[in-house]
Amino acid sequence: MKCRPGCAACCIALSISSPIPGMPGGKPAGVRCVQLTADNLCRLYGQPERPRVCNGLRPSPVMCGQSAEEALAYLTELERLTTPSPPAGRPKEGSDHERAL
Ligand code: SF4
Ligand code: SF4
Repeated sequence: MKCRPGCAACCIALSISSPIPGMPGGKPAGVRCVQLTADNLCRLYGQPERPRVCNGLRPSPVMCGQSAEEALAYLTELERLTTPSPPAGRPKEGSDHERAL
């Protein structure tokens, strides 16, 4: 399937550990990527600065659902299920959703 233009659910719901221009420490889950335009398109599309994980992410019916809302709900749950709980007293580390997709 093709990516739904203007959806951007994966650019909001997912955490990204690699640096993004404007987000040098990566992107936390549930935070809108700074590279999204007002139309929810990627400013870095086709650019070398675009993270590899973004280039590699492929739309799928399960992930993308029928709407941005469905995709956001699915991906938010995926992040929740794949984010390890931090040991007591230790800071939380990034999720491993990239392996789960
Ligand atoms: S969730 Fe799917 S349809 Fe929506 S932006 Fe990501 S890849 Fe495209
Ligand atoms: S760099 Fe582009 S594709 Fe990657 S999360 Fe940001 S807006 Fe989405």
